[in-house]
Amino acid sequence: MNLKETDSRYIANTYARFPVELVCGKGSLVYDTDGKEYIDMGSGIGVTAFGIADDGWQAAVTGQLGRLQHMSNLYYTEPCVKLAELLCEKTGMKKVFFCNSGAEANEGMIKTARKYAAEHKGAEYFTVVTLVNSFHGRTITTLAATGQDHYHELFQPLTPGFVHAPANDLEAVKNAALENKAAGIMIECIQGEGGVIALEKDFVQGLAAFCKEEDILLMVDEVQTGNGRTGELYAYMNYGVQPDIVSTAKGIGGGLPLGAVLFGEKTEFTLGAGDHGSTFGGNPVCCAGAYSILSRIDGELLKEVKEKSEYVFSALEGTPGVESVSGMGLMIGIKTLKPAGDVVRACMEKGVLCLTAKDKVRLLPALNIPTELLQKAVEIIKESV
Ligand SMILES: *Cc1c(COP(=O)(O)O)cnc(C)c1O
Repeated sequence: MNLKETDSRYIANTYARFPVELVCGKGSLVYDTDGKEYIDMGSGIGVTAFGIADDGWQAAVTGQLGRLQHMSNLYYTEPCVKLAELLCEKTGMKKVFFCNSGAEANEGMIKTARKYAAEHKGAEYFTVVTLVNSFHGRTITTLAATGQDHYHELFQPLTPGFVHAPANDLEAVKNAALENKAAGIMIECIQGEGGVIALEKDFVQGLAAFCKEEDILLMVDEVQTGNGRTGELYAYMNYGVQPDIVSTAKGIGGGLPLGAVLFGEKTEFTLGAGDHGSTFGGNPVCCAGAYSILSRIDGELLKEVKEKSEYVFSALEGTPGVESVSGMGLMIGIKTLKPAGDVVRACMEKGVLCLTAKDKVRLLPALNIPTELLQKAVEIIKESV
């Protein structure tokens, strides 16, 4: 049997794969079994922040791999502590909990909000308000948080305690929070899976003010938008707000599984010994790699992300076949006249790997994609739309 047949026989049918087997790569280039070269404009859904087999990341990972690949959280290990310190220094947040994925980070964030609200207001304050069209993960609880009904249908009953309110409608979100005794309000500053749609600045600032007034936690899901993706270290930094709690994953590990919950002043002491945990959380190899990634997301890199972003927007806006371009930084959605799936297949034929999000073509290239490759990919996208 070839790989495709073996896959369909033994791998659960949860993914609709493209008919291509990728074997290796370097930076923003990746190769299939026939040796065909592709420009990677998806970076494993925003995961390989500095591209494939990045030298600095690889050295950090392999160095740690040869020393200590795992120890339980019963003992101290240096990589996770150094990473937590760097995260706090770069964000002003106070403490970090490490886990392994976006959904797990959101679960940690939700548990914290419930405990905080129970302690400060009473056990009946457990609801988390999230936005319509949001995406927060695939576990039973983060599915409940996700504001898209089609993800819910087959998996009832979901965890209670979530209500969804329309994005950019401040009054509706406030009412939902007050009527439901909310513990927190959870947002993606740019809805990623929902179609790369940035929230309005006034709305996010209004939410932050309301949360502060009512002592409701502002919870920001930075799983996709975080770690330099939008041209700031975290997307909330584009909005001039200070969240009470932040979740992140995807790009932070540079390609290895890592998630994190960042606690602000209000929540730094909420979780105590025994309240939460994760066997693999803070794994030294993942954290050593992540340190290498995070330490290189500096002002200069972020400036380059913004410049590359401006280039992509100006190159694509007004192109025949393109209705609109949305997003921020190197998190870009393209609404095309043709179905997005057709455009992605045409790009793949021509050697460019793109993603979709709802009805859009989605681009999440490596933050350090070389300009020539970005230009080449954009030309092929323009031909394909
Ligand atoms: C991808 C994503 C998640 C889920 O992350 P996993 O690592 O797949 O669990 C949660 N929230 C947002 C905004 C995401 O983009």
